[in-house]
Amino acid sequence: MNWNEFAHWGKEISDWAADYHSTIRDRPVRAQIVPGDISKQLPGSPPETSETMEDILSDFESIVMPGMTHWQHPRFFAYFPANAAPPSMLADMLVTTIASQCMLWQTSPAATEMEGVMIDWLRQALGLPPGYTGVIQDSASSATLSAVLTMRERATGFTGNRDGLSDKGKLRIYCSDQVHSSIDRACWVAGIGQSNLVKIPSKSAGLGFGMDTDDLRQRIAEDRAAGHIPAGIIAITGGTGIGAWDALDEIAGVAQIEGLYTHLDAAWAGSAMICPEFREAFWHGVDQFDSIVFNPHKWLGAQFDCSVQFLRDPMPQINTLKIVPEFLQTPGKDVINYSEWTIPLGRRFRALKIWFLIRAYGLEGLRSRIRNHVIWSRETCEAIRKMAGFEIVTEPMLSLFSFRCPGNDANQQKLVDALNDDGRIYLTQGAHDGRAIIRFQVGQFDTKREDVMLAIEAITDVWKKMTHAETGVPQNG
Ligand code: PLP
Repeated sequence: MNWNEFAHWGKEISDWAADYHSTIRDRPVRAQIVPGDISKQLPGSPPETSETMEDILSDFESIVMPGMTHWQHPRFFAYFPANAAPPSMLADMLVTTIASQCMLWQTSPAATEMEGVMIDWLRQALGLPPGYTGVIQDSASSATLSAVLTMRERATGFTGNRDGLSDKGKLRIYCSDQVHSSIDRACWVAGIGQSNLVKIPSKSAGLGFGMDTDDLRQRIAEDRAAGHIPAGIIAITGGTGIGAWDALDEIAGVAQIEGLYTHLDAAWAGSAMICPEFREAFWHGVDQFDSIVFNPHKWLGAQFDCSVQFLRDPMPQINTLKIVPEFLQTPGKDVINYSEWTIPLGRRFRALKIWFLIRAYGLEGLRSRIRNHVIWSRETCEAIRKMAGFEIVTEPMLSLFSFRCPGNDANQQKLVDALNDDGRIYLTQGAHDGRAIIRFQVGQFDTKREDVMLAIEAITDVWKKMTHAETGVPQNG
């Protein structure tokens, strides 16, 4: 392909993109196919000779598109969102075009310097105090792994990387039972082990389902008495299941007395902290955390992938991860090389999409979306509360709540499946207190109030259509 052809197809594809987004409400949200439907249409071996872009794009429409679930659909209420606001997409197109590898300052000075400034813009936007620096990673999982490795190295006097862990004893990390599975996985791959991740039971509803800090203190004391080595505490603001949040000031207080490193996973809810009114309730005490991760690619609108890790002092993480062979040295330059702060060496220019996003909407534009999502989620919650036999299991935390339809656990999955087959909306299931639940969150960038109202209509309709034989519930019969 020459660059003239590239320009032609680039225009075709951006027209296609605009059309896709303007007609997306006509598509079912979740892909309506069965396993194997797509792979059986793809040739089993690669072509030996070139094919035309016309043919490739035509196959893209007919084979690939039916197998896509539409995360940018305004009636996507499943999981958490993965937004891609148009200005951030344009920035990513520029980044893809220039295709620089931004591992060192000198391999793209603008990327490094923009990253430092965007971290500081976001620090201010989220109300964190001056002094925090940070780095942009691909995902919250990577940021959490970086933090867990830092806990490990700090607790072993920075000897784990050098000597391995075989003679280090049991390093312990503490979190609540509401954290995301990325915390478990970070402990697996950092050599801490699942059995040394101590999950403190969460407290009741009014307290945000956060961890019990008396229990935390006691577990740390017991571990010390048993000769184990407490290494760090991981807190959550906005857990994936039901939006649990920890009392950050209490946890930070324990960490300070015990000399432990702290990491906060605010992957989803962190974006909402651009609205000052949510900070007091959900992250009072955040300014005492050593490491904080939030994903602008979830709720803020930056195209995936874009995960920001703030660090109160970057040195423990740099001392954990920095490795500078001869070929990566930049003699005579007092600069930041962000690849020394993270696990992968290679890095995309992710700061550009944050710059485009914030300039194109202003913080007020981004705040108003998040505030609307929170209001509409509450409206939906109230409507479902009034539906005969339906139960709100957990009240809205920001824009996430959970509910149950009448009947047993199996009915919850049946309703989720029927709704997703219906296609007007997309929801996912979960579990809370040993019972199946249905999660509902509002967060897609283009969602309007009528999309959320349509969700109430879809839930009502689909439930009514489910037969008595399917649900065992009389009023359906
Ligand atoms: N933490 C929480 C609370 C999440 O909800 C998620 C994903 O949804 C993650 C971490 C993992 O995020 P990532 O996909 O960026 O690794």
